Amino acid sequence: MTHHISEKMFGLTQRNSAVREMFEEGGRLAALYGRENVFDFSLGNPNFPAPEKIKEAICGILESESPTMVHGYMSNAGYPDVREAVAASLNKRFATSFGAGNIIMTVGAAGGLNVILKTLLNPGDEVLALAPYFLEYGNYVNNYDGVLVVVPANTADFQPDAEAVRKAITPKTKALIINSPNNPTGVVYSAETIKSIAAVLESKQREYGHPIFILADEPYRELAYDGVEVPWLTGFYQNTIVGYSWSKSLSLPGERIGYLVIPSEIDDFSLIFDAACIANRVLGFVNAPSLMQRAVAKCLDERTDIDAYDSNRKLLYNGLKEAGFECAYPQGAFYMWVKTPCDDKEFCNLAKKYNILVVPGSSFACPGYVRIAYCVSPKTIEGSIPGFVKLAKELGL
Ligand code: PLP
Repeated sequence: MTHHISEKMFGLTQRNSAVREMFEEGGRLAALYGRENVFDFSLGNPNFPAPEKIKEAICGILESESPTMVHGYMSNAGYPDVREAVAASLNKRFATSFGAGNIIMTVGAAGGLNVILKTLLNPGDEVLALAPYFLEYGNYVNNYDGVLVVVPANTADFQPDAEAVRKAITPKTKALIINSPNNPTGVVYSAETIKSIAAVLESKQREYGHPIFILADEPYRELAYDGVEVPWLTGFYQNTIVGYSWSKSLSLPGERIGYLVIPSEIDDFSLIFDAACIANRVLGFVNAPSLMQRAVAKCLDERTDIDAYDSNRKLLYNGLKEAGFECAYPQGAFYMWVKTPCDDKEFCNLAKKYNILVVPGSSFACPGYVRIAYCVSPKTIEGSIPGFVKLAKELGL
């Protein structure tokens, strides 16, 4: 059959996101059985509201600042005072010395990743992703005709294995994406893991005579439990670029606000920074949403209700363990990564019988597991446990 859309987009229409499909399925089941009887763990859409201070900041800005300032265009990198405030906040927390000239405000983490990939990639350049990983990376890399190369998972503890990274690197490797706390496993990569990966990248940079960048994708940075430390990667590896977003950390996913940190120490800094500003423009973002830039700048010390996520984590973990499932206790983010005693897609289909929606591990390049997003109300978790118990029995656990 002929079609009149691009081949790339045609490919995407044929294999749409399983996460999104599950989310749509949730809507369908809710219409049939009532929202309270559907246990939708499919999407990482925070159920907890943004801190009150966000609303106060937005209202205050609208009342006190000039509309041309609040709603107008600004430099493609974002408002200079907002970027300065972001840099100062990072410096305070990580003993760095960034300035406004290292920060580009972006349309969420997704916008930031697209900006930096557009900046760096020539067609055929390779970008490594550590399985299991957020599957959109493949689409983002493909947007710029790059090739996503998957480093197989270390299923022992889901800390990536530096030797597996070494094996995956070729002369075409341009970047490695690191996402910690990790979606989908909830694992926080340890300082040892980061050090061993950095050592491999250093040696490969020397061997090939060109930089290999770490792209640190950090929308879950502040979502870490029990005081676990999330290593700040620019301190471990010179050619690191960090992408951040307030989507999860302040429950603002629809507002599309984040930033890139491009440290002055990276190779080709000035050109990369200038090109990234242009990429923000020519991709059509032009700039990050103006009102939200001003609002987050006033909320840099705000934190989401991490205790609420923690209590969900415990509730779900205990419920699943008692039902007989095998899963690791997550250290960060808001996902539980559960081993499936059968094919993971089959597991998701069986779970639907109990109105439970979860996402197969194969959607994260790691079959044999499912991801359960527990950024939901505690009632959803409590209500789902009898279904999980029945499911475990059905699967012979
Ligand atoms: N990176 C990871 C690992 C994510 O899980 C998500 C969203 O779920 C994103 C990036 C995109 O975040 P944003 O909403 O800030 O674009």
